Amino acid sequence: MATKMEFKAESKRLLEMMINSIYTHREIFLRELISNASDAIDKMYYKALTDESLNFDQDSYYIKVTPDKENRTLKITDTGIGMTKEELENNLGIIAKSGSLAFKKETELKDGHDIIGQFGVGFYSAFMVAETVTVISKALESDTAYKWESEGTEGYTIEPWEKAETGTEIILKIKENTEDEQFDDYLEEYRLKNIIKKYSDFIRYPIKMDVSGQ
Ligand code: ADP
Ligand code: MG
Repeated sequence: MATKMEFKAESKRLLEMMINSIYTHREIFLRELISNASDAIDKMYYKALTDESLNFDQDSYYIKVTPDKENRTLKITDTGIGMTKEELENNLGIIAKSGSLAFKKETELKDGHDIIGQFGVGFYSAFMVAETVTVISKALESDTAYKWESEGTEGYTIEPWEKAETGTEIILKIKENTEDEQFDDYLEEYRLKNIIKKYSDFIRYPIKMDVSGQ
């Protein structure tokens, strides 16, 4: 009888390949991060439906986008359900393991970049524009917050961190411009507003833009 073997994937190569080839439109990283933020708020909402101690007040749930030109960072904050240490490891540490795939209906694939969300690699699209991705998260059921950080291909670190409210903060250290590519754009208010309008118009929670630091 033939033996059945499993394929092994080199995650470093896989990530490099994905960053460089699956994504053709770099700007979609924001759609992916906003969609994850929205999913996290949905989870809070559904939890509140069955847990009377949680009062889902629509006004206190939102997504916030904060560009900071001076520090070259773009922050995406949500007031969603957050991630425990284990969830940070399992959800952000395993490439192409989509947690929400099972819940999503098959969507019509009109062109290539609609496939991304279905691969469970949405989060990693952040590495198309960021040299470092930092995730600070506090789960609803956890007293401790954690900081997950990665430069992409070399793995990640996790450590306890300070965060008062439940939810997640994703901080992208935006890449320096190269000869053929402008990354500065992703720190510009008008550009970010455009991308949000283009891809995230249907999101049912408010998407705020905080440019007070500029
Ligand atoms: P997908 O959304 O298809 O599951 P992603 O790569 O976009 O794949 O995200 C992987 C997983 O990481 C999500 O399923 C979710 O469990 C977790 N995650 C990502 N962003 C957040 C967030 N802002 N809040 C809570 N969990 C998140
Ligand atoms: Mg996603």
